Amino acid sequence: MNKNPYEVLGVARDASDADIKKAYHKLVMKYHPDKNPGDKSAEDKFKEVNNAFDILKDPQKRAAYDRFGDAAFAGGNGASAGAGFGGANPFGGGFRFDMGGGAGMDDILREAMRGFGFGGFGGAGATQGGAQNAAGRDLLDEVVIDLKDAYFGKTHTVKFSSNVACEKCNGFGTADGKPAPACTRCGGSGYVHARQGFFAMETPCPECGGLGRKIDKKCTTCEGTGTTNKARTIEVKIPAGVDDGTRLRLAGQGEAGANGAPAGDFYLDVRVRPDKRFERRGADLISRVNVPFATLALGGEIDVQTIDDKTLSVKVPAGTQVGEKLRVRGHGMPARRAGSFGDLYIEVGIEIPTKLSEKQKKILTEFAQSKPEKKGWF
Ligand SMILES: [Zn+2]
Ligand SMILES: [Zn+2]
Repeated sequence: MNKNPYEVLGVARDASDADIKKAYHKLVMKYHPDKNPGDKSAEDKFKEVNNAFDILKDPQKRAAYDRFGDAAFAGGNGASAGAGFGGANPFGGGFRFDMGGGAGMDDILREAMRGFGFGGFGGAGATQGGAQNAAGRDLLDEVVIDLKDAYFGKTHTVKFSSNVACEKCNGFGTADGKPAPACTRCGGSGYVHARQGFFAMETPCPECGGLGRKIDKKCTTCEGTGTTNKARTIEVKIPAGVDDGTRLRLAGQGEAGANGAPAGDFYLDVRVRPDKRFERRGADLISRVNVPFATLALGGEIDVQTIDDKTLSVKVPAGTQVGEKLRVRGHGMPARRAGSFGDLYIEVGIEIPTKLSEKQKKILTEFAQSKPEKKGWF
């Protein structure tokens, strides 16, 4: 098992290269097998010192050690260490991994390589396993619709241009339009292994550039990328009863991935414009209607408009007060359960006449001056 190289060499974390070299030379002389013939512990020490120097003399390895710390040596011991790469990833992937028990240096570096340099776009790459699987980006659009459209549902047409799989080569980037053969150097993984000391490094395959496939003759249309930019039209079916703020997802309708990698998704955010006539509360609708004073007092019927532009006759009970709500079942918005609807509530206001005939004035005056009789009035 390897030990902390700083401790092995007896130098500080911020030791200079010269100090490290000096410490190494001193120890290597001390434990050299020539000076300690047959001494097993000296031989082990000698190896340790060499291993430690191997790390600390190399700025890259030293930085890697500093980054992962002792976790590099904890493999198999169930040590848990988290290392967040979100901030450092130039591709904005927000890539993280948690090194749980037993994760070795190989895993760490492999993930680190992917996260840093070859993670594809939009964060998908890191989890999709490398450069050869650079998934296409997700696309997002927004539409504002009327409440009536939300009631009936609507087909929204989006026109835009994005990367699509190249038609000439079927997205493979090859001149013959067939999948390119796996790269012989990396066996199709896109990575090559390099072991330096105890560091197992995986770096993008220099032969295929991390693609995992070797394209001998590139498609001339897409120059081997497998994608072309194209004007597109997508029809998004907005379901009846859609709520304001709903995000609809069309799987696989985003940008095409490189060289046959999965496409991203297309998202449509639906906003529902407030309506002048109806206020929405979940699946219910509220409509404010002014009712003639006499109808409220005597009872009667009024005509109300529904969201789907029908006219309904609604009963008004005698003595209905301003602000009361009359319920009209099933004339609200389509509810979540298919085929069911919310209710329409008529919130009652009062209609005060502004132009009265002489006759009406006379009646109203009489009414105002009258007193309720024992057996009712009017
Ligand atoms: Zn390769
Ligand atoms: Zn092509």
